[in-house]
Parts: sequence; structure tokens; C-alpha cells
Amino acid sequence: MNKLTLDDLEPAGKRVLVRVDYNLPMRDGEITDDSRLVASIPTVRRLVEAGAKVVLMSHLGRPKGQPDPAYSLAPVAQRLAKLLGQEVHFADDCVGRGPLEASEKLEAGQVLLLENLRFHPEEEASDPAFSKQLAQLGDLYLNDAFGAAHRDHASTAGVTRFFPRAAAGPLLERELRYLTRAVENPEHPYVVVLGGAKVSGKIDVLQNLMPLVDSILIGGGMIYTFYKARGIDIGDSLVESDREQMAADLLAESEKTGSKLVLPVDSVVSGAADGSEPAEVTAGEAIPAGMMGVDLGPRSVDRMKARLAGARTVVWNGPLGIFEVPAFSRGTEAVAREIAGMTGRGTTTIVGGGDSVAAIHRLGLENEDFSHVSTGGGAFLEFLEGKELPGVAALADRKGS
Ligand code: AMP
Repeated sequence: MNKLTLDDLEPAGKRVLVRVDYNLPMRDGEITDDSRLVASIPTVRRLVEAGAKVVLMSHLGRPKGQPDPAYSLAPVAQRLAKLLGQEVHFADDCVGRGPLEASEKLEAGQVLLLENLRFHPEEEASDPAFSKQLAQLGDLYLNDAFGAAHRDHASTAGVTRFFPRAAAGPLLERELRYLTRAVENPEHPYVVVLGGAKVSGKIDVLQNLMPLVDSILIGGGMIYTFYKARGIDIGDSLVESDREQMAADLLAESEKTGSKLVLPVDSVVSGAADGSEPAEVTAGEAIPAGMMGVDLGPRSVDRMKARLAGARTVVWNGPLGIFEVPAFSRGTEAVAREIAGMTGRGTTTIVGGGDSVAAIHRLGLENEDFSHVSTGGGAFLEFLEGKELPGVAALADRKGS
């Protein structure tokens, strides 16, 4: 890590402005998954125990640059207070007199959460005047929001201009430690499992990782664009016809470099994606007319397990079938359990992306079953694509690096 971290700061008695990722899934004002909030607790506790005055800021959803009660962080402040076991002050805006006075009134060890940053269009526009207003709320700045680090926004990048020692928070530091190793010096054999709906979102990941890895095991809806590129019948399966050429190029590149891309050999197919029609397993790759591929077939699952065996590093992103439908979640489940089982045998196992994390939790697996569960979706993918994340680039470098 060549960036300053919390270890480099002296937070006692100081107002520490922390960019956290409290972009939690909500339904009707209720938090439906508080994992990101739970993940931030050690950082907040550490600051509280160090005697800092903690000022937390985050975005939530897409409120279109104006206040909208449906996207208020007020319920998050309440849940945070419960998790922390102490009072959490809440400011009903993130800039201006109110928040400034609230930050100045804080005593050592007290916590303040600001209202949704995206109630102001200046956040996403990374407006310098807005960044400066945010900066007035802290004496020190920490970015602990890996999930937002791929955004060049006021609270992630712009604000750092006002803090000569802008540092990475512990959560961000942990993300960077695991993911940097996965893209710079992974232990081999290195196997990547890549699923999800579309190949278009994963092309850059495939291209960047191909030279680094030993195998990339493909699952999910993107299988069928690769099949189509190979001239295999795909029935009514999901396909991106405009990506067929790219898929063909990737397959050709793979063949030149030892066939690293591994496609499934059978599928679970059905007449409907929602589980309302019966499912069957194909004999081979071809999908019958009128049917669509909805999950990995059992032979493909076995082949994936065989390819995973002995790996020292595994990175998994994207469900391997329509896992939201229980009947089509078996492939994702089998592979997730296999990867989890490898953790205890010394393999570094990394899972990232909102859907994969939702999938492991739905299966009853815990974050502790893997070496690292990334809190990032887009940021996780961009990191694997080899891109520099603006929110990370903006942090102060450690001297001598
Ligand atoms: P992504 O956001 O690209 O990671 O895609 C996640 C979505 O891919 C999930 O909602 C899955 O239901 C979906 N998915 C996985 N496999 C398939 C498939 N065979 N056909 C259609 N959608 C799929």
C-alpha cells in the first residue's frame, strides 16, 4: 500500500471526516441488507476509541440531485446507533451552517452522520466549491468507501484537495491489499470464475485478467454469446449479438494462450426465466429451440470443481445462473460452496460484486467463509480491469513510494 492510512494520522480530539459506503439496499424506508453498515463498524469504533470526533458522509441511491425522503440516511443513522451501542447525531443536510455547527459541537468519541450527499447535484459533478464546504466539516479526511472509489465525485476525490494527508480507511486499505495482490502478484494456480448476465460488462475484466490467470471459468448469461460466436445453437437464451465478434476474438486469444477460457459443456434449460415452466438438462452444449439456458448443468459444475482444485488464488464475480429462482441456483450454490471450502485449505478466495455477495448470503455462507468479500460492485470490476480508481488515486502517497 503506497497510500497514507489511519495509522499515519493522529485522530485524537480531531474532527475526522470519513467517506463511508452506506448505500444500503432499502425497501419502503426499511434497510433490507445492512452488510455495508456492519462492515464499517470496526472503522467507526476505532476512531471513537481513539477519541476522534467522527463525521460520516455517504450517498444512498440515486435521488437526482435533490432532497427526497425516500433516500434519506436517517434510518441508517438509527441502525448505526444500535450497532455501535451509542448515540449517533444526524444532520439533515451534508453542507451548510447546520452540519458545520453540528461538527463543531461534537465531543471526542461522538459520531455524526450527514444526510445523503446526492441530495446536491454538486456531489456527482465534483464541484470544487461543494468539495470545499464538505472539507470544512473535518480536520482530517479518510476514505473508507471502496464501493464509491471508482467515482470521481466531490466526497471521494474533490474533497482530498483540501486535506494534504487524505488517507485510506481500514476497510479501503483491506480491499486494496487483497485486490492489488490479485492483479499484481497472485499466487498460482490462479482461477477466476466469472458469471453475471452480460459479457459486455465483463469484456475489460476478461482482457486484463487473461494474461495473469491460469483459467477463467465462464458461467451465467454470458455463456450464450460465446456459444453463438462458436456457432452453437442457443435457442432463446440471453445473447448480445453486438458482442459476438468480441467474444470470438476472446476465444481466439484464449486458444493462442493455452485455452484459459473455459465454457460450460451443459446447461439447465427452461421455457421461462422465472421458474414458471419445467427445467431439464441438455445433453451437450446446444440449447433446444424455444428454451433458454438458466443455470450450469451438473457436468459443467463438476468440471468447474475440477478446474478449481489445487488453485492458490480464486476470484469470483457474478452468479452462474438465474440464482434468484431457487430451482436455477444450484450451479451458483455448488461453486460458491466449493470456493468457500477452499478457504480453509489455504487458498486465497475473493468474492466481489453485489449479486455474488447476495448469492453467498442467501446460501447461508458468511463473509468469514472467504478470505475477502469485497464491498465493491463497479469498483471491484474496475480494479480487476486494471484501472486506477479516482478515489484511491486522490489519496496522499506514503513518503518514499
Ligand atoms: P451481473 O449484474 O452482470 O453480474 O448479472 C447478474 C444477473 O445475471 C443476475 O440477476 C442473474 O439472474 C443473471 N443471470 C445469470 N445467469 C443468467 C442466465 N443464464 N440468463 C439470464 N440471466 C442470467
